[in-house]
Amino acid sequence: MQFELSKEQEAWRRLSQEFAVKYIAPTVQERDEAEEFSRSLYDELGLLGLTGICFPEKYGGRGGDCLSYILAAEELAKVDDSLAVSLSASVMLCQWPLYQYGTEDQKERYLKPLVEGRRLGAFALTEPQAGTDAAGQQTTATRQGDGYRLRGNKIFITNGGEAETYVVFAMTDKSKGIKGISAFILEKGMPGFIFGKTERKLGIRSSVTRELIFQDVYVPGENLLGAEGQGFKIAMTTLDGGRISVAAQALGIAQAALDYALAYAKQREQFGKPVVANQGISFLLADMATRVEAARLLTYQAAAARDLGKSCAKEAAMAKLFASDIAMAVATDAVQIFGGYGYRREFPVERLLRDAKITQIFEGTNQVQRMVIAGALLKD
Ligand SMILES: Cc1cc2nc3c(=O)[nH]c(=O)nc-3n(C[C@H](O)[C@H](O)[C@H](O)COP(=O)(O)OP(=O)(O)OC[C@H]3O[C@@H](n4cnc5c(N)ncnc54)[C@H](O)[C@@H]3O)c2cc1C
Repeated sequence: MQFELSKEQEAWRRLSQEFAVKYIAPTVQERDEAEEFSRSLYDELGLLGLTGICFPEKYGGRGGDCLSYILAAEELAKVDDSLAVSLSASVMLCQWPLYQYGTEDQKERYLKPLVEGRRLGAFALTEPQAGTDAAGQQTTATRQGDGYRLRGNKIFITNGGEAETYVVFAMTDKSKGIKGISAFILEKGMPGFIFGKTERKLGIRSSVTRELIFQDVYVPGENLLGAEGQGFKIAMTTLDGGRISVAAQALGIAQAALDYALAYAKQREQFGKPVVANQGISFLLADMATRVEAARLLTYQAAAARDLGKSCAKEAAMAKLFASDIAMAVATDAVQIFGGYGYRREFPVERLLRDAKITQIFEGTNQVQRMVIAGALLKD
């Protein structure tokens, strides 16, 4: 196993870090307060190439690997997890299935503008009655002529309303269960495709989460992604990659919380000495740092497994489960080290704690990750 980053991976990491610190950090607190998504910052990520790191040059990408993208996501999440979430939804949940399952025509039409950062993407699986039980899709796609009519709604969709391109799952044949689910490419502006409630959230407040409503939306047959009935497989393999990206977000949040807590503990004095001089605090920091490093290894290992083209469902689930749990724990400990100041909105650890929670919930709750890991153990 190689523990050194390649020159290319290190370059993506540094580029993302420098951009995040210089251009994203100055407005992060303000956008969180205003609950405002910044499309112009997203566009900048596209210009830098971050939306295309792990896609071939043929489709407008940079021909890099998944680990390079994960390093970029971690650096963005250190500064602004909301923006890292928007990027992840577009890159890992929309672009990836288009690349993996799309026809050449679909790649040219839909994938390329996303990879180049000229469009934003979204992934729509969750419904009011189909959350953890994603197989229980109620949205239907009924054949009509050469295409389909979509009816139903999706909730909690990251980038909803802001995105131009959507990978949407719907039931084409209820009698076939999960084999009756298909995936479709929808575009903002299709007649009958409208946007509902925007969620007001605990954290990642400057990432948009919105309801999608399909009122007899006509979707041409050429917008079927993969084969009819392949939708559930497309959703699950897409989420494997998405979970590594969530692990990277959690890792970034945890690293940032640790960095802030360490700096604060060195400068805050009580009883005539810095609070870090107390073992109660320095041992806490030692545990936080150890957890962060362990999460980093699991996350990079999952990305490396994906780069080898191996099935990485178990590795992705382990990375997401562990990194998100430690992000919550480390952010909580960071607030504790800040004392009362950590509870105030002016200090970033308050936001990090709120942002950390979602990493335990989306792209399959951590209960689901345990199901995936246990399933793999029982199969081995
Ligand atoms: C901010 C945000 C962004 C999101 N972005 C997207 C997106 O872009 N696209 C998308 O499709 N979805 C998205 N989601 C949806 C997210 O993936 C779901 O919320 C998540 O999968 C859980 O579904 P649920 O909320 O319906 O919870 P439920 O399924 O109702 O679960 C409730 C609780 O029961 C537990 N539970 C359920 N079944 C079991 C079981 N069999 N065994 C043990 N425990 C169980 C769950 O773990 C959870 O703790 C987003 C959600 C949020 C909050």
